[in-house]
Amino acid sequence: MFESLSDRLSGVFDKLKKRGALSESDVSAAMREVRVALLEADVALPVVKDFIKQVSGKAVGHNVLKSVTPGQQVIKIVHDELIAMLGGSADQEPPASSETLSLIGVPPVAVLMVGLQGSGKTTSTAKIAKRLTEKDRKRVLMASLDTRRPAAQEQLQVLGEQIGVKTLPIIKGQMATDIAKRAMDAARLQGFDVVMLDTAGRMHVDAALMAEVIAVRDRVQPVETLLVADALTGQDAVTVAKAFDDQVGITGVVLSRMDGDGRGGAALSMRAVTGKPIRLIGTGEKPDAIEPFHATRIAGRILG
Ligand code: GDP
Repeated sequence: MFESLSDRLSGVFDKLKKRGALSESDVSAAMREVRVALLEADVALPVVKDFIKQVSGKAVGHNVLKSVTPGQQVIKIVHDELIAMLGGSADQEPPASSETLSLIGVPPVAVLMVGLQGSGKTTSTAKIAKRLTEKDRKRVLMASLDTRRPAAQEQLQVLGEQIGVKTLPIIKGQMATDIAKRAMDAARLQGFDVVMLDTAGRMHVDAALMAEVIAVRDRVQPVETLLVADALTGQDAVTVAKAFDDQVGITGVVLSRMDGDGRGGAALSMRAVTGKPIRLIGTGEKPDAIEPFHATRIAGRILG
């Protein structure tokens, strides 16, 4: 995760640390290198520009350059701006498990999982359901609303059996909205706290996909609508999130396949471009491979 960006930045910072005094032009030279590192990591250009502007503005101040350890001060500014870019603040505590999602409402509350096909939606649905069951002691029911992809509903059922989370019995031929309604009714009758609804994906954002997701959303009034996006697709993940947010309205993002993402452009641009928080990151194929996204920890990983 973030390996290539981390390597590039540590190269820049090592040089800064070695110098006793720093001039404005030293800072500008370092910022040019940080800019290239971020662009190579596939961070969106406006986000990079804003970042460099913020850091430069703070770093060239009299107090920083005249301090005893100007290099360290510049690195601290980069660190804090990185956290801000990721949507956090430097002194925030990591979220407790139950704070990762907002599940306030009369139970059963619905969590709607949306995204493109192959983004990791079904896997993430199961991972989150397992987490809520084990860490938050919630009674969770999962249902697949994917009536298009053959065996999609069975895939979730099999995952449910593996992780010990109940899934809604499959009735073939039902429409997505009707399955959603049946899931909510069953959850109400059987005393579940949370219903995780895995919607159908498509290869691309298209009108039919959005219409179906909107119809389900209006039917169940979810407390969370989570967009699952594949970190490996870089800026496309951000574009997809923006499209879903504009058309459906999302409450947060689950970024899958972070385990394979050496660059980190999607993670770094998501908040700044969409305004929506990354809630969780997928870190592998196994049902436990998910963790809350915490800006300070991520910045720590990037800066080493
Ligand atoms: P969906 O079509 O969006 O429901 O995608 P799936 O949940 O079926 O996932 C597609 C593939 O990605 C599967 O092989 C998953 O095991 C894999 N996958 C999902 N999330 C992650 C992740 O965080 N890391 C890795 N390495 N693989 C993942």
